[in-house]
Amino acid sequence: MQCKEILVPSKIPGMDYALNPYTGCSHGCSYCYASFMNRFTGRRESWGSYVDVKVNAADRLRAQLRRPRQGTVLISSVTDPYQPIEAQFGITRSCLLLLTCANLHVSILTKSDLVCRDIHILKDLPSLEVGLTITTPSDALSRLLEEGAPPTSVRLGALAALAAAGLEPWVFVAPLGPYTYPSEAEALFKMIVDAGASSILVDGFNFYPATVGRVAERLRGDRRGKRFAWALANREAYRRELTGLVAAQRLPIAISLC
Ligand code: SF4
Repeated sequence: MQCKEILVPSKIPGMDYALNPYTGCSHGCSYCYASFMNRFTGRRESWGSYVDVKVNAADRLRAQLRRPRQGTVLISSVTDPYQPIEAQFGITRSCLLLLTCANLHVSILTKSDLVCRDIHILKDLPSLEVGLTITTPSDALSRLLEEGAPPTSVRLGALAALAAAGLEPWVFVAPLGPYTYPSEAEALFKMIVDAGASSILVDGFNFYPATVGRVAERLRGDRRGKRFAWALANREAYRRELTGLVAAQRLPIAISLC
């Protein structure tokens, strides 16, 4: 597909621009609320089953960067910039190469170890923060809820590689859903610290109707499904549990809750 603009103003706090190289995301996370994008794309397929490639993204970015810009650009806000199709098309990489010559702070968030392919480019960016989203210590749960994304163990490996390259990666534990037990969350925090993260930001589960149905379906008949149902009916108690859990951590790196 052709896009008119690739650098678009963002309403996300702290972000001036969003750059989404793709429309759609084959990671297909069951809790993904970017599925609202179907309203704008007009697609009838279910979220996670299609990806449109913005083939002219680099051309548009080159044109947009002719005007001097400042601020932070988030890559990406409603797709994953390193989902599998990026290995074939390299749209994210071509945009990053252009951004090495721009005066923008680049913020990258991904669930994929494919980001390690571009470490040499990331090191050339004038200003960068790179984060991995990791939501559970369990590869099995990751495969269940994030079926198209690399499992936790692979993401932890990518985290270690980014840290070894001196890029000081952070980790977004989001969502830390109620189907993850507090003891598992603590185990995950330790894994993240051991892999070399610079900080951890935790976010709770957003109980949007579309995501609740998808997650409940995946957890049907599972003990985790019971905890999810409990949290659905007791959202304040779930939030209190999350707040207490994060406050109780004594880690050598910063940890905070959205
Ligand atoms: S990686 Fe992000 S954008 Fe892609 S499906 Fe998962 S939550 Fe949605």
